[in-house]
Amino acid sequence: AHEEIDLKRFIRHVPDFPKPGILFYDISTLMRNPDAWQLAMGRLARQVAPLKPDLLAAVESRGFLTAAPLADRLGCGLLMLRKCGKLPGETISHTYDLEYGSDTLEIQADAIQPGQRVVVMDDLLATGGTLAASVALLRKAGANVVGASVMVELTSLGGRNKVDAPVSTLLTYK
Ligand code: IMP
Repeated sequence: AHEEIDLKRFIRHVPDFPKPGILFYDISTLMRNPDAWQLAMGRLARQVAPLKPDLLAAVESRGFLTAAPLADRLGCGLLMLRKCGKLPGETISHTYDLEYGSDTLEIQADAIQPGQRVVVMDDLLATGGTLAASVALLRKAGANVVGASVMVELTSLGGRNKVDAPVSTLLTYK
């Protein structure tokens, strides 16, 4: 019965959020349905397992929600890529451009042993800026970035072309 569930039915589309003219794809409605959420995590696990990651890198904040259950399923480690100033101890940071202004992601400097296989995870790929920055930061920290994984990809923005790693997705929208 699980295989018959169309996961797209569970993604809510919210117009004009967070700004007028933006259509927001909301995974909250998928997460709160136990069958849909379990199915989504199972499918993600099947996509990511062949990459044989040592660690999953979770992008703050909705990436935390997918990476944590997946690390548990795959039996690999988990690390956080966080907004500036949130992580204790020595950190490495990477600043990247946004449409207006810039943003900074950080990782703990000792999070990765040189050459460890890392898959970066977020909920959604739009312009690709966030995943591209995440890959760059992980490489600064010594990672062998073997892939990126998101639940939802907005394909018409061409974001995957910005990401210097193979990107796998569960659901795509034009
Ligand atoms: P990008 O950097 O333009 O690819 O945007 C992706 C980042 O913005 C991710 O961290 C997403 O969580 C967030 N994001 C952008 N658009 C949406 C959306 O429609 N729904 C949920 N998250 C979004």
